[in-house]
Parts: sequence; C-alpha cells; structure tokens
Amino acid sequence: MKSELKKLSRRVSLLEAPEYHFPYCNTILIEDDACCIIDTSVTEDALHYLRSKHIDLIISTHYHVDHNRYNSHFPQAKIMAHEADFPYLSSRERFISTVGSQYVGVDLSRYLTLDQWGYEFREPHETMSDGRIIDLGHTRFEVLHLPGHTLGHCGFLFPDLGLVFSTDIDLDRFGPWYGNAVCNVSDFIDSIDRVINLKPEMLITSHASGPITSNIQGRLTRYRDEIYRREQEVINAIYRGKHTLWEIVDENIIYRKFHEPQWRYYEWFMIKQHVLRLIDLGKVFADSDRYYLYDGVRPSNLNLA
Ligand SMILES: [Zn+2]
Ligand SMILES: [Zn+2]
Repeated sequence: MKSELKKLSRRVSLLEAPEYHFPYCNTILIEDDACCIIDTSVTEDALHYLRSKHIDLIISTHYHVDHNRYNSHFPQAKIMAHEADFPYLSSRERFISTVGSQYVGVDLSRYLTLDQWGYEFREPHETMSDGRIIDLGHTRFEVLHLPGHTLGHCGFLFPDLGLVFSTDIDLDRFGPWYGNAVCNVSDFIDSIDRVINLKPEMLITSHASGPITSNIQGRLTRYRDEIYRREQEVINAIYRGKHTLWEIVDENIIYRKFHEPQWRYYEWFMIKQHVLRLIDLGKVFADSDRYYLYDGVRPSNLNLA
C-alpha cells in the first residue's frame, strides 16, 4: 500500500492513504515551528517518511485503531485527544469494552486485530475540547468536537485554507457508522449538520480521497440522509411485525449482507441506536425487549428529519 503526499499550503500537507481501506487513514502533516500529525494509521511508506521528521505532536481524532496504529512509533511526540476518548486510547481493557460483548453475549474482541499488528496503547498527554485553537507558529486551527461515531470524535477547521477535516464523517457510500457500544446516532446527525453549516470550501475526510472541493454540502446531506433511510426502514420493520432487536437486525437494513460474522453485531448496535432515538422521538415504545409503534405512527406519516 502506498500513500500520496498532497501539499495543501506551504506548511500543511495531506498524506493520503488508499481510499476506504482498513486499517489506514488519511493523515494531515503540519510542518511549522512545531511539527504535528493528525492521526497515525498511515501506510508503511508514509510511516517511513514521517519517521524522518521530528514529530512533536500527535493529534488523535478519536480512539479507533485505524487512526492510532503508529502512536507508539513516535515516542518523543506528545499525544492530544478529546477527553471522552482518553480511556479507550490508554487501556486495552477499556478499549475492548467499547465493542460491547456484554450486550450481545458473544466475545466480540476475537474480531479485533490489535495483536497481529503489535498495537500498543499509549496514554494521551493533553486534552482538547471544542473550540480550542491549536497554534503551531504560523498555522492555527480549531478543534471541532463532532461526537456520534465515538464520544470524543473530533474534526478540525483550518480557517486560512477554508478547510474542514471531518475525520470519520467520511462520505463512505455505506453511510455513517455507529456500531460500537459508545456511539450515538442523534449526536452523529448533529455533527454532520454542523459540518454542513460551516460551509467549507474544502473538505478532507479520514478515508475518502481528497481534498473534496465540489458539492460538499450535497454530499454531506446525502451521507446524513442515509441515517434517515435506515430509520424509516426500522419503522417499516416494526410495522411489519418485527419487534425484537434481533428480528429487526435480520431484516439487513444497514449492512444488507453480513459478509463477516461481526457485521451482524455491528448491525445490532446500530439498530439499537435507531430504536433508542425513535423512543426519544415518541414514535416507538418498549415492552421489555419488544418494540412497538405508538398508535397512529405509520411508515407513511413520519417526520424524522
Ligand atoms: Zn472511527
Ligand atoms: Zn476511520
């Protein structure tokens, strides 16, 4: 696997990984008075390139390993992350708890590939919260807390470049992903809307090839609306008599086909998020582990957005 280096300005570059290729992500390199990288799950050639630099700061966008794979390869660098994702960056046990084995009665950690990569957990040094300005000398950018995909998921606004780096608001044709125990679909919707409302001239995501400069709002809107399509399908399934989470899961609303066994569990967590949201919206109620539509709620009369 090879990366491509794309200059965005004199000091800011994009190290672009192959598009939507787990476990790689796009990395932003900022070579200023301090040298900083945003995320470290680069390809091997890019790792070699980055190790020739003196990296002072690693900014971790969120705790997923396809964003932090090489954090331990830059021991001199400080790591900054959102406080909400600290526990999962620093502790293997806490990380594993996020896959939610306890909810589905299956050890989902068997599907993780941490050990075959030699992944090492590293405690972050510093927290970043929404609105914080990171100043590297000449380059200044702002932290955007964009929760939903994870609790501490962050993006970044580079005002001088008209650029938003939206991380795992990644425009994947699959749509947004919220398949762990620490995700929140309503927050995800709000975070996508926030990026849309910033009206960036340039968008970079962690997994799409970029930078994206045309139809940004349209593409983000279509990506967000996939959530509403799924939610409509959840309502349809309940209406047709699927009342437990597993019955709804086996309607294949999100993944369509479970090519990997763990996908069915990810689907369970994502369906659960929709059902919880529909309860909040007053469309659905729970009777022990079964879910029903309130009287008068029909697939034809919803207003989910
Ligand atoms: Zn992620
Ligand atoms: Zn990602």
